[in-house]
Amino acid sequence: MTQTDVLVVGAGPTGLTLACDLARRGVAVRIIDQAPEFPSGSRGKGLSPRSLEVLDDLGVIDRILASGVTHMLFRKYRGAEVIAETDPEAGHVPTPDIPYPVGLMIPQWRVEQILRERLAGFGVTVELGTGLRGFRQHAGGVTATIGEAPLEARYLVGCDGGRSTVRKALGLSLRGQTPDVQLMAVGDIEVDGLSRDAWHQWFAGGGAIMLCPLPGTNAFQVQASHELDQDGSPLEPTLERFQQTFDRVAGVPGVRLHDLAWRSTYRVQVRMVDQLRADRVFLAGDAAHVHPIAGGLGMNSGIQDAYNLGWKLGLVLAGHAAPGLLGTYEEERLPIASWLLGITSDLLDVVLDAIKETGGGVDAVATSELTQLRLRYPWSRLSRRTASRPDGPQPGDRAPDAPLRDAVTGSPVRLFDLFRGPHFTLLGIGERGAAVPGDIGPDIVKSYRVGPGSLLDAEGHAARAYGTDTLVLVRPDGYIGLVADPAEPGTVAEYLRSL
Ligand SMILES: Cc1cc2nc3c(=O)[nH]c(=O)nc-3n(C[C@H](O)[C@H](O)[C@H](O)COP(=O)(O)OP(=O)(O)OC[C@H]3O[C@@H](n4cnc5c(N)ncnc54)[C@H](O)[C@@H]3O)c2cc1C
Repeated sequence: MTQTDVLVVGAGPTGLTLACDLARRGVAVRIIDQAPEFPSGSRGKGLSPRSLEVLDDLGVIDRILASGVTHMLFRKYRGAEVIAETDPEAGHVPTPDIPYPVGLMIPQWRVEQILRERLAGFGVTVELGTGLRGFRQHAGGVTATIGEAPLEARYLVGCDGGRSTVRKALGLSLRGQTPDVQLMAVGDIEVDGLSRDAWHQWFAGGGAIMLCPLPGTNAFQVQASHELDQDGSPLEPTLERFQQTFDRVAGVPGVRLHDLAWRSTYRVQVRMVDQLRADRVFLAGDAAHVHPIAGGLGMNSGIQDAYNLGWKLGLVLAGHAAPGLLGTYEEERLPIASWLLGITSDLLDVVLDAIKETGGGVDAVATSELTQLRLRYPWSRLSRRTASRPDGPQPGDRAPDAPLRDAVTGSPVRLFDLFRGPHFTLLGIGERGAAVPGDIGPDIVKSYRVGPGSLLDAEGHAARAYGTDTLVLVRPDGYIGLVADPAEPGTVAEYLRSL
């Protein structure tokens, strides 16, 4: 029987992020997908600023940024007349603590392709046409049935989407609702007669059609109300029906839709599981929560589920942490899933109201929540402090970036450069921060002193972001685990021992 440490079921953005994070830690990982070929349809088309930070840490940010666009204009029309044009992220510029202040428009298939290539760099390839049929848990692991063959894994993670086989095999259901009115026809299509500098949107007479240029392609993603049959039932989307919807809702002469490369029907669901783990089996991404796409949080939340779980599995498998650490995945991510359902449902209502107003549209939901930069885990047992500090980020908060300069070489260096990789980062900031101990197990923690003679914080950005005279332990996923008094450096080793 073949063996692996982790079997990742499903090679969407969630499974690929997890597989990359595990593979870079040296974990033996297999990733399977039942699909016979990689998907080519756009589906998700936006990465949040926080997802961009994750992809920076995974070493693919340059390729991701080169494949997408920022500041896409939202252009709304009545017929051929432009009635409103907005950039919902106008004025959002990089700051010392936030290098990626705006989301990136990029088709999901391209994100997946870049992650697959990264994974291949670690010697792991997605096993296509390989569906999980079932599994059985036992004391030491999970025996999975793939095709006819059994595979022995120490852990199995179901990243297998909304219809998750893993979730069903665990006997878990997605609880919530499927509002019956919310159905949308979606596709990737080419369009003559429309510019590629904006997301074109029409809302009229109870119908809608939106055409968003997909960067790096000749196609637009079309999202439209369904055409209905005589009984009012939705008809399968086709090229002719998309054109029919366009002519009815937009009615702009000379615009011709052609070459429909992918089409789908999107049904709004607001559902989640009530647990993310059953012993050695985990659920992540759409397998665990499905919700309205208003705000575009689907792909992004899956990426962050994976990023939360990867380092925990890595530490446990390497023997650096007790299996109890894995319990914090559900402890941290289940409340986030619940928040997500609430916020995306609210956002959907906001959009549905906004489009009734002249010039209103999907940009009505552009709030700072969607950046996911404010997501935090203050309730987690991994968020601890020995020093109380009213200013700066708190345990459980996202660890901000800051520009520094190497005192010896004079080279610029960012905190995010120090965080990049699978390790914890211990920062000793300020004069008293000099008490940072040397590397505590260099595989696990890298220690840096931010102060005279070491990494210079000449402009004071790190001190402003984190406070001075403090020890801050940043988790591998970029959240603050521990805030300690430099007089008690032993608390860092204690924290790590307790994992
Ligand atoms: C039209 C549309 C627009 C969207 N827009 C956005 C957006 O703007 N932003 C955003 O963030 N999200 C968006 N989403 C949502 C986003 O596409 C999903 O949330 C995302 O794909 C979830 O990723 P995932 O990896 O969890 O699951 P999936 O992408 O669904 O991947 C699951 C994978 O598991 C495989 N699989 C299933 N069962 C098995 C099995 N038994 N064995 C092996 N493999 C299996 C499937 O083949 C699939 O490849 C949109 C979705 C749609 C449809």
